[in-house]
Amino acid sequence: MPTREDHLEIREALRDLCSRFPDEYFRRIDEERGYPEAFIKALTDAGWLSVMIPEEYGGSGLGLAEASVVMEEINRCGGNAGACHGQMYNMGTLLRHGSEAQQQKYLPKIATGEWRLQSMAVTEPTTGTDTTKLRTTAVKKGDRYVVNGQKVWISRLRHTELMILLARTTPADQVRRKSEGMSIFMVHLDQALGKGMEIRAIPNMVNHETSQVFFDNLEIPEENLIGEEGRGFKYILDGLNAERTLIAAECIGDGYWFVDRASRYANDRVVFDRPIGQNQGVQFPIAESYIEVEAANLMRWRACDLFDARQPCGAEANMAKHLAAKASFEAANVCLQTHGGFGFAAEYDVERKFRETRLYQVAPISTNLILSYIAEHVLGLPRSF
Ligand SMILES: Cc1cc2nc3c(=O)[nH]c(=O)nc-3n(C[C@H](O)[C@H](O)[C@H](O)COP(=O)(O)OP(=O)(O)OC[C@H]3O[C@@H](n4cnc5c(N)ncnc54)[C@H](O)[C@@H]3O)c2cc1C
Repeated sequence: MPTREDHLEIREALRDLCSRFPDEYFRRIDEERGYPEAFIKALTDAGWLSVMIPEEYGGSGLGLAEASVVMEEINRCGGNAGACHGQMYNMGTLLRHGSEAQQQKYLPKIATGEWRLQSMAVTEPTTGTDTTKLRTTAVKKGDRYVVNGQKVWISRLRHTELMILLARTTPADQVRRKSEGMSIFMVHLDQALGKGMEIRAIPNMVNHETSQVFFDNLEIPEENLIGEEGRGFKYILDGLNAERTLIAAECIGDGYWFVDRASRYANDRVVFDRPIGQNQGVQFPIAESYIEVEAANLMRWRACDLFDARQPCGAEANMAKHLAAKASFEAANVCLQTHGGFGFAAEYDVERKFRETRLYQVAPISTNLILSYIAEHVLGLPRSF
């Protein structure tokens, strides 16, 4: 496909690795609602999940652009980076706000894969997107914080050693702004599960391992507080631009996959004695999908460039995620339609990828919330909530 192919070396290495995990592999994992252990191990061993960790801690010290290429290629090769993308953006929180002692403690082990940092617990069942109203509390008692409350939709907890938790440390009525008084903590799951933290799986539309979480007097040592107490919400927001951009890259990988598969099928499938792709009614939607994925890709690079230059990139990261999630789902729909009945057959993988890419208009942030961010913060329209 004649598209801009930056970072060719990374792409080729990833494609080589991914070729050992063909469609059948990801299809079987999806059918079993399993976890792609062997694939994630291969990625970890090859150092792809630690590209953003500085070299002195055992990573490759690369930027968001390179990390985004890793995520894109996984999806473009038919896989689902949702099994491991948490590691990329959660690490950013530790890199930017963790103390030196915390970085030394965690980063080398994350780089080798001994510890995985795949989970971040923010969303709560009663407050949803209105994060500053979250009800989970962490109360300081001596040299520990005692956590009580509940989270929902917390992903990859069965495949991680570490989780970043956002909880309120000062009651909302005692802070100047509602965004103050929340803190983030590093939770070691082996010290938490069954000791004040319980999880319950949420069966869902995609093979995305995610859980409800219940805290009942979970104790966290005070040294696991990341950054300053009370500034956790700001730290989480800082990490979101990376998260949005990486998700945009995943959607772009999906988008190219759908356009490739649709084009291939439209060339091969003969009905009425000619390839279906000879009909403009079939080829135009595929061409349109390609245009939209390419356009979203430009915004993704813009967000990466700004992020890696440490410039503000909230608008670009949000717009990249919005455009890419829309483009990939449109491409998914076109790909399904192009395949006719066969689009519904699991063996073509279109229905699986269709479900997977749909998630990104809801999580990690829903479309309306992005529109509202742009309306308020870029266009200066009145704040609506
Ligand atoms: C598979 C999956 C994995 C996830 N993984 C994680 C995870 O690892 N960690 C984590 O913390 N969370 C995770 N989430 C949660 C996810 O981030 C939230 O589902 C998402 O942010 C939306 O929040 P909500 O579901 O509470 O929706 P709600 O906040 O209840 O919103 C419902 C709908 O109403 C709309 N809406 C709400 N308020 C407004 C408004 N003022 N104006 C316009 N529209 C509005 C929203 O856009 C949305 O479409 C995951 C979710 C899923 C489905």
